[in-house]
Amino acid sequence: MKSQDIRQQFLDFFKSKGHLIVPSAPIVLKDDPTLMFNNSGMAQFKEFFLGNGTPKSPRIADTQKCLRVSGKHNDLEEVGIDTYHHTMFEMLGNWSFGDYFKKEAIHWAWELLTEVYKIDKDILYVTVFEGNEAENVPFDQEAFDIWKTLIAEDRILLGNKKDNFWEMGDQGPCGPCSEIHVDIRSAEEKAKQSGRELVNADHPQVVEIWNNVFMEFNRKADGSLEKLPAQHVDTGMGFERLCMVLQGVQSNYDTDVFSPLIQHIEKITGAKYTIKASNDAEEKTNIAIRVIADHVRAVAFAIADGQLPSNTGAGYVIRRILRRAIRYGFTFLNVKEAFIYQLVDTLAAQMGDSFPEIRSQKNLVMNVIKEEETSFLRTLDQGLQLLENVVTETNGEEVPGAKAFELYDTFGFPKDLTALILKEKGMSYNEADFDKAMFEQKTRSRAASEVSTDDWVTVSEGDGSEPFVGYDTLVNEVKILRYRK
Ligand code: ATP
Ligand code: MG
Ligand code: MG
Ligand code: MG
Repeated sequence: MKSQDIRQQFLDFFKSKGHLIVPSAPIVLKDDPTLMFNNSGMAQFKEFFLGNGTPKSPRIADTQKCLRVSGKHNDLEEVGIDTYHHTMFEMLGNWSFGDYFKKEAIHWAWELLTEVYKIDKDILYVTVFEGNEAENVPFDQEAFDIWKTLIAEDRILLGNKKDNFWEMGDQGPCGPCSEIHVDIRSAEEKAKQSGRELVNADHPQVVEIWNNVFMEFNRKADGSLEKLPAQHVDTGMGFERLCMVLQGVQSNYDTDVFSPLIQHIEKITGAKYTIKASNDAEEKTNIAIRVIADHVRAVAFAIADGQLPSNTGAGYVIRRILRRAIRYGFTFLNVKEAFIYQLVDTLAAQMGDSFPEIRSQKNLVMNVIKEEETSFLRTLDQGLQLLENVVTETNGEEVPGAKAFELYDTFGFPKDLTALILKEKGMSYNEADFDKAMFEQKTRSRAASEVSTDDWVTVSEGDGSEPFVGYDTLVNEVKILRYRK
């Protein structure tokens, strides 16, 4: 089944259950001070759960473009190394705003997976919240009892607060979740070890596909819970993971969501993607290809939604992702000129029906990426050589922060890129010294001119006359300077 049809069937199914189908919200958030990018389906409905406003329908479903590269959900380090976490991915979701609750949500999830998509029940496991006395939250008996009518009891696992309890913040709506996991290992592998032991254990073929959150409590300021006046359902299913299962492949990258991009990368670079790498060199090539196929989607969709790469905030996150991809191409696929922009053609052809913005903005997206690539490639080689020299000089010791800062300042290396390259060599740099060098430079440029750049967010509007007392990391490269009042 093609990914297009898989997506459509999800939407059709929930439409048939009385849901209003709505478009994805933009991937970039402009008016939420707590979040730069949409990182889950529920973000666009957050206010409804807080009791502000009413949705167009008490039942809604959609596919949401998500980006998990910052803040609470940051999967960037995993991407390309594993085969099931992406920077940008689609989250299929259905919602009940004070309408149906656990029984319908679980039954429909099960019906969709096993009857519409015809997934074999014997590859599924489900989890239910086990309860946590210290935190005053009960075992989700209700969900457990519903699941018992659908699936063998030894396929129901109890999960802890980290995996199976959702909270919006320290206060506010919260509730247990019930997740669905697939075990797509071979029969031989399954005979060796039970899938039960591998649920939530980072196994590439035993993966979580669908999270069903039941918002039933409100956490009060004193930490106690009360029942919400109206109870809600918020679900999220990873589209690419679902495609992996339904297309009978072992990795998200082997689905038709990614294979056209991978083929295009192979065509341009001459590199070969191997479904199962048999040596280190092949695995390195694979990782580079996966990273590029993944990152071009994140960058292209962000630009199409209006977020241009820049030196500050969300724009810098996008620039960092792109530079990461460029360096993977340069070092591991040996491409010394701009090429990633060309992939947008393939992406637009493939995703344009479901997300028209990627087609209508194609030229802009291509131009911006090409320009970014060209400009970073001007300094990348020299920067890498400098880093090579430093690595030799430091002889396995920690690299001085000032060197990492030079790479950032003169060669445009985001610090996480420097960290990544060093990590590949089992090394690191001194981050505190980097931050110090950064601060000193900012102070110098502030003294030199009254013009202030805005890639540093000042919490207390310090004018530089207050004593500087330290940094707080916000997200990504954005730092909050702390001044003593
Ligand atoms: P995981 O444990 O695999 O990191 P999660 O528990 O963080 O996933 P949720 O926040 O529950 O994920 O999101 C709902 C669904 O979205 C997950 O069940 C999964 O299918 C999908 N998903 C989450 N993160 C990613 C990602 N980085 N790339 C692709 N799909 C993802
Ligand atoms: Mg996660
Ligand atoms: Mg999880
Ligand atoms: Mg989850």
